[in-house]
Parts: sequence; structure tokens; C-alpha cells
Amino acid sequence: VPATAAWVARRGPERVIAELTDALERDFRRWPELETRPRVASHSRDGVIELMPASDATTFGFKLVNGHPLNPSRGYQTVTALGMLVDVHNGYPSFLAEMTILTALRTAATSALAARCLAPRGARTLALIGCGAQAEFQALGMRAELGVERLRLYDVDPAATAKVARNATALGFDVTPCDDPGQAARGADVVTTCTADKRNATVLLDRDVADGQHLNAIGGDCPGKTELEPATLRRASVVVVEHEEQTRVEGEIQNLPPGFPVTELWRIVRGEAPGRRDAGELTVFDSVGFGVEDLTTLRFVREDLLGQGRAPDPLLAWL
Ligand code: NAD
Repeated sequence: VPATAAWVARRGPERVIAELTDALERDFRRWPELETRPRVASHSRDGVIELMPASDATTFGFKLVNGHPLNPSRGYQTVTALGMLVDVHNGYPSFLAEMTILTALRTAATSALAARCLAPRGARTLALIGCGAQAEFQALGMRAELGVERLRLYDVDPAATAKVARNATALGFDVTPCDDPGQAARGADVVTTCTADKRNATVLLDRDVADGQHLNAIGGDCPGKTELEPATLRRASVVVVEHEEQTRVEGEIQNLPPGFPVTELWRIVRGEAPGRRDAGELTVFDSVGFGVEDLTTLRFVREDLLGQGRAPDPLLAWL
């Protein structure tokens, strides 16, 4: 874990997110060449453990990740992860990396890629609802991509709001802590919900969502765990997902009929489907996390290390 964090610290998290956003765009453009499938999820009363595979003609990759919302009360993180790359030609593992911080960076980069396609022009204000481990990275992603300068923060736990407020102020954001999600969302151009709750808790009410906003809903990522009201999704001009089959089970759209129309992000990236068309539209990215994002990230880190002569192929490299 310290070595992964050191790699990120050397490069700078905001720069890594920006580079990963571009790397994701390149891989999303070649989506039809990739082998994609929904992740395997093992649910228990406490949380979920998931295996997320994806591959192309040369490299197979997977991530092992968990989501345990009660972990912080036990002194553990909600999300931890480990990833591996395998050479498709000989089946040998070629790279192994601790991925907890990389998951936060790639999730921020994926939100940034969605914002590239969907956020209103000139977006400068981001509301963050949920101030846990993902929150600051989401803020950095929106600054790297859109130039966001102002943050409006809300968390049910005032200590979490205060922590992100302190850190984000030190990172140069203009920060407003808020008393409820509606207050946070008011006046924001982009709203990111990143809460962890095992119940189907509505985190952001439809009446608090304005036309013209872009929402990144990243915390609702399991059956029975969502953040938005179905009315918000119905009102949106476009609901964008990573991989429809997986999101129908795990995303916000699990609360809507199976025929509810969605657009996969890669289709917008490839110019096959429209993103935002005008300033008055409400757009939603219903993010659950997808294996391609981890494959891209693992390859990006591995190639960077190879470039520095740090991870001679085909040795395993524990970051
Ligand atoms: P975390 O436990 O560190 O933080 C979650 C925060 O949400 C906590 O501060 C908690 O107090 C707050 N919270 C819980 N219920 C709330 C509510 N109703 N309103 C406001 N705040 C509330 O978790 P994290 O690592 O930041 O992850 C956040 C969520 O994002 C998790 O659900 C996780 O599974 C999900 N996630 C999604 C992706 C993706 O790719 N879409 C990737 C990583 C994590």
C-alpha cells in the first residue's frame, strides 16, 4: 500500500487522474475490440466482494475489490483492491498491484470522462454528497477535467464533511460545507453522490436536482444500494452507464423497468451517440465501476514503471 501511494505521490494524483482520463478515452474508443463481461459479485450481510475481469488481444486483467460500508466503524476502509495483468499469449501473470488508491483515481477519471461528454460548459461548482475516501479524488478529477474551483460538501457525518473541507481548502478549492444534500446541490453545475450505505437510501431527492446539472452517481453500485430517486432518472435527457448488463443489476437503474433507455459511455466517446446537446438538459452518469477501467489503469501504471526501468517484463512487480 505505501509503495502504490508513493507512486501516486511522485506523479501527483491530479495529474494521474488527468492522464488516466485520456487513457480511458483511448480504451473506450476501441471498446468493440475488448472482451467485456459483468463482474462476479459475492454478497454477504456486511458487504460485497467482486472480481472484475476485462481483456484485449494481448492482456487479460482483473481486479479483486470489496465494498463494506460498516468497515470505517471497525477501523478499516470501505473499499480495498488488488489487481493483476496476465499475458494472453502464455497465460503468465505479468503485473500485480495493490489498487485501493488506484481504484479511487480510476473512479475519478471515469467520472471525468463522463463529464467530458456530459457536463455543462463552464462548470465551476461541484457538489459532493458523501465525503469519504472517494470524495477528494472526485473533486480533483472535476478540476482536472472541467476547471472546477468551488465545492459544496455534505455528509451525514459532520466529521467527514470537515475532513474533506480541510483537505480541499488546502488543495486550493473554495469550499462551502452544507447542512443537507439539497443545500449542497443548489447552484452546483455538477453533483457527485459518493455515499456508502447498504440500504436503498435516497441520498439526493429529485426536488433538489435542477435542469442543466450533470450528476455522477457513483455510490449506488450494488443490488439494493442506490442514491437517486427514479424520478430523477426519468427526468434526465440521457442516463449513461458503463456496461448496461452489469448496471441493470447494480446501478441506479435497478429501480426502473428493464426497458428503461440508457446509453453506454463508450458509444458517446466514439461519437455513436450524443452526449449533452444543450445547457438545459439534466444528464446522469450511473456509475458502478467496470473491469475495463481497471485494465486501463493497471496497464497505465505498468507502462509507466517499464518506462522508468522499474518493472522488467515478465517479472511480477508489487508496487
Ligand atoms: P467511505 O465509506 O469512505 O465514504 C462514504 C461516506 O458516505 C461516509 O463519509 C458516510 O458518512 C457517507 N454517507 C453514508 N450515507 C450517507 C447519506 N445518506 N448521505 C450523505 N453521506 C452519507 O466510502 P468511499 O470509499 O468513499 O466510497 C463511496 C461509495 O462509492 C461506496 O458506496 C463505494 O462502494 C462506491 N464506489 C463506487 C465506485 C465506482 O466505480 N462507481 C468506485 C469506488 C467506490
